Amino acid sequence: MRILSETIALEKLHDLKSDFATRIRSDYEHRAKSCAACETPGACCLDAHFVNVHITKLEAKAIRSVVDELPNRGQIDARIEETISKYDLAGAGDTFSKTYACPLFDKGIGCLVHERGKPLPCIAHACYENKEDLPPDALLAQAEERVDELNETVYRKPARWLPLPIAIRNS
Ligand code: SF4
Ligand code: SF4
Repeated sequence: MRILSETIALEKLHDLKSDFATRIRSDYEHRAKSCAACETPGACCLDAHFVNVHITKLEAKAIRSVVDELPNRGQIDARIEETISKYDLAGAGDTFSKTYACPLFDKGIGCLVHERGKPLPCIAHACYENKEDLPPDALLAQAEERVDELNETVYRKPARWLPLPIAIRNS
């Protein structure tokens, strides 16, 4: 198996996500409600009955490097810990059965990793009126497969997808 340094893999991950975002924007998002005109911005990210975003180790590293550059890094880390404890999140068992309000949503800023590190399901998500306008699941699955491959090339074992707060804490 080809070995890749984490630094190079993080750049490849960023390119992969940028390409995915471009595809979503150009082919689908124009049919969705505009987030800029949303009366409840962040409702999607803070809905504790809806959010169950899972990410891999490599994605968590990308998010970690963004959070580490923030002046309020300590607050964000505290929010991540509070989320884990409040929603009883864990790294084992049926992790997809639990949902949480995302600790990366900041009321003044929005998604803290919008520019770099945003998880694939978040890039794909928007409010569509018609179900048939949504990006096909296969598009997300294809991108997730490539993220799986990148992780495996760097860490030499199959990627584990964990709830975002757990994955960031482990990173
Ligand atoms: S995805 Fe929907 S709920 Fe979230 S900010 Fe955009 S329009 Fe609002
Ligand atoms: S990572 Fe960003 S877009 Fe995704 S749920 Fe959290 S705040 Fe929202």
